[in-house]
Amino acid sequence: MLSLRRQVYLDSNATTAVTPRVAREMSRALTRRWGNPSSLYHCAREAASVLEEARQVVARTIHAEPDEIVFTGSATEGNNQVLKALADIHFPQRRRIVSTPIEHPSVMETLAHLASRGIEVAFLPVDRFGRVALGAVEEAIDADTFLLCCMLANNELGTIQDVVAIARAARARGVLVLSDCVQALGKVSVDVRALGVDYATFSAHKLHGPKGVGAVFVRRGAPIGPFVHGGHQEAGLRAGTEGVHNIAGFAEACRALPALRSRMAATAALKQQFVRALRAIKPDIVVNSPDDLCLPNTLSVTFPGFNNAVLMAALDQQGVAVSAGSACSTSETRPSHVLKAIGLSDEAANETIRVSLSDDTSPADLRYAARIIRRHLEGQAVSVEVLRAAQVDERFLFDPGNYILDVRFWHERKLLKGLPNSFEASFVSFKRYAHHVPRDRHVVVVCMGGIDAIPIAYALKARRCQNVSYLRGGVVGWRIAQPELYARYAGTNITRLEPRGGSTGVLRRLGL
Ligand code: PLP
Repeated sequence: MLSLRRQVYLDSNATTAVTPRVAREMSRALTRRWGNPSSLYHCAREAASVLEEARQVVARTIHAEPDEIVFTGSATEGNNQVLKALADIHFPQRRRIVSTPIEHPSVMETLAHLASRGIEVAFLPVDRFGRVALGAVEEAIDADTFLLCCMLANNELGTIQDVVAIARAARARGVLVLSDCVQALGKVSVDVRALGVDYATFSAHKLHGPKGVGAVFVRRGAPIGPFVHGGHQEAGLRAGTEGVHNIAGFAEACRALPALRSRMAATAALKQQFVRALRAIKPDIVVNSPDDLCLPNTLSVTFPGFNNAVLMAALDQQGVAVSAGSACSTSETRPSHVLKAIGLSDEAANETIRVSLSDDTSPADLRYAARIIRRHLEGQAVSVEVLRAAQVDERFLFDPGNYILDVRFWHERKLLKGLPNSFEASFVSFKRYAHHVPRDRHVVVVCMGGIDAIPIAYALKARRCQNVSYLRGGVVGWRIAQPELYARYAGTNITRLEPRGGSTGVLRRLGL
């Protein structure tokens, strides 16, 4: 069993807990206002009124008008919508988008998609803390540019950009401006008029609202096109029956924002105390978040000589949740594109964690986290061994003393076959199969890229499995290091560990 002494959640930039008031409003919408807002009778009108009231609340929160708000299923969808709609409208007459290299993957990957269709994407240079220099904006915009895309606050560093000045420079050259304001809302004030942007995106679950709902601000008169076709909802821009309960929850979270923001000064002070505590533990830590113009809750910190995935797993084992990057890339092995863009080496990026406080993080929470970090850095904590792909040769694979536990996700198993003689188990339902894993063999935990295996290895160690390792680089790394073994043996003699209560309730041999 996991020995969690305390739960300390320090990953609020990934998501936040829904407050009881938000949950109550959502429940009310689900149980009492469940009509389809597009229908024409009484209960439908009630649902429609929830929508319209929520639209007013969200609009007021960001200083917009209700008809400038489009509800979406997420901010990822919002970023996709604006970027793709504007490319549709402008390309090929104008073909250039200017952005920053530290945008969220929902922007970066959409830009990469558009680039594959012929759009030219130019990235502005950023400094050591991810700040864009205004002069670079003016230089980057040419007559071909139709959009400038710059986030208000960075999710990994907390860096706040001077979007007011950036937008002014873009508008002066007839260029539209999109700002991803997801991380800013709830932590600093967001006024889309003062920012001077044409589009802005938001997500409810970053501010104690529900997951699965976001909003796009589209300035009156700014060009935009439909993203999802098939209905008149959201002024024809996003077809599909609205998630009224989610939207009601989003609005309730917005109502609580003044109180939330009033606690942010205390959060910023706590963050500074935490930095001092970390420096006392390890004087050579490198803080990648700027001192000023930074989200009050966000801290990116590098621990030279200590792998971030291992540190994260050690913290997780003691109930402390932090992240190694954005939530969308936490199980990737590639170093964070944001940390690379601000000049960190691959090594330093892989030694960096992100700590993001909540408004209810206490000094005791941070003292506890600092204590766990100290124990890990001083080598006092339980640790797991690292196995290099080169060590996993034919003899190793067929040694009955080794027990290979493959915790890849189902979609990853479709991409690459597993190591021979391995036992397949789920990454997420550890408790349901852990009892199958022997304590008297050398357990090697394997995942796709080498990251997901680490917390499982720690969890096994906590279950008194004496000899536990994880495979660095995962199946991907092993295939590259051992192509002949992969070709000859991968996918053979695999056993699936059925969770208790599964279809058979026992180990199932796949018969390959
Ligand atoms: N933009 C930023 C800056 C984010 O941090 C996130 C989420 O982490 C998103 C966009 C995506 O938001 P959502 O989870 O609503 O898709």
